[in-house]
Amino acid sequence: MSSLILLPRILHIGAGASAQVGDVLKTLGCSHPLIVTDTSMVKLGYVERLQAFLPPGDVYADTVPEPTEASIIAGVEKVRHGQYDCIIALGGGSPIDSAKAIAILGKHGGRMRDYKVPRIVNEPGLPVIAIPTTAGTGSEATRVTVITDHERDEKMLCLGMGFLPVAALVDFELTLSLPPRTTADTGIDALTHAIEAYVSRKANAYTDSQALQAMQLIAPNLRRAFHNGQDRDAREAMMLGATLAGIAFSNASVALVHGMSRPIGAFFHVPHGLSNAMLLPSVTAYSLPAATARYADCARAMRVARVSDSDEMANRKLLDELVALNAELQVPTPEAFGIERATFFNLTTTMAEQALASGSPGNNPRVPTVDEMVKLYEQLW
Ligand code: NAD
Repeated sequence: MSSLILLPRILHIGAGASAQVGDVLKTLGCSHPLIVTDTSMVKLGYVERLQAFLPPGDVYADTVPEPTEASIIAGVEKVRHGQYDCIIALGGGSPIDSAKAIAILGKHGGRMRDYKVPRIVNEPGLPVIAIPTTAGTGSEATRVTVITDHERDEKMLCLGMGFLPVAALVDFELTLSLPPRTTADTGIDALTHAIEAYVSRKANAYTDSQALQAMQLIAPNLRRAFHNGQDRDAREAMMLGATLAGIAFSNASVALVHGMSRPIGAFFHVPHGLSNAMLLPSVTAYSLPAATARYADCARAMRVARVSDSDEMANRKLLDELVALNAELQVPTPEAFGIERATFFNLTTTMAEQALASGSPGNNPRVPTVDEMVKLYEQLW
């Protein structure tokens, strides 16, 4: 059996990679870019630094964390009425996902909900050159965008080659300014991508190699980057790990953690990585009996189990590590985050139904019913 692998055409990885943006544009034959970013990137001076390497263009800096369709409409209008030949996406997953959506809607029109799964969007939008500033989503190398339908409180998963950036400039130096909380949330997101890609029913030999390597890079370096944001070696490993994890899940898909995480984000505005972190230990405990050997491999790749450990021992060590990691990275419970208990419990069935509709739980080694997902949500309390 063969596997289809989709990747950006150009990857520049390492210190200073973002300074290659001018040359990359020339290689792609582009000369009139729109930079899509957020206000933090402007304040940090990253936009100005990028502009020094670029031909004159324009900036759309009004993207928001966990982007909604409303937040990108003005960007779409800019593309419809401007003469841009590419989009440069600068920021975390939110500006990059916003840029991907703007690139498609600006060229093909319609509403974002027209493009959500089960539709597969393979038609190209404007070419996107992605420059990530978090070591998390891997969006720079994925055929995925996630946009919230603000009218229906639904985080829509949108998939297809049309959302794959044509180039990714992966420069860990841009992550040196990340505060500890965002470092933790985005880092656990990347770790979750790698684990879910590896245990996914759609995993293949190529995605396995990327996922295992990602776990080896992320697991020993996440705590280091959290405690000391200036640790360049840890930042570099996290950044490469996040991109590899993105490549792995984009080609093998994510599973139950992500499926259940998106509705928590949509209803309660919990940052994506944080809702993943809340779910990762209990969903792993639920899923583990269906893929003991695979989860044991994860524990060994993360260096929390020895090669000589039995699968059973490695599984136990993996669960212990996921709980310990959340404690050390100060991941709050839903209650500590400020979510109201009654509202959460009233929404568990709706959230489980939305999770199911996204398709992600169907890739899990153990496929849950809606009732089982409701119980998993309740367990978080
Ligand atoms: P983010 O982009 O929302 O950024 C979080 C915060 O960190 C923002 O305030 C941002 O301004 C700030 N920030 C980013 N980089 C910084 C830096 N270097 N220094 C200082 N501050 C910085 O966070 P994220 O976790 O990268 O992205 C989350 C979004 O990505 C969610 O909407 C999620 O659903 C989506 N996502 C997409 C994919 C995909 O493949 N497309 C995968 C996973 C998640």
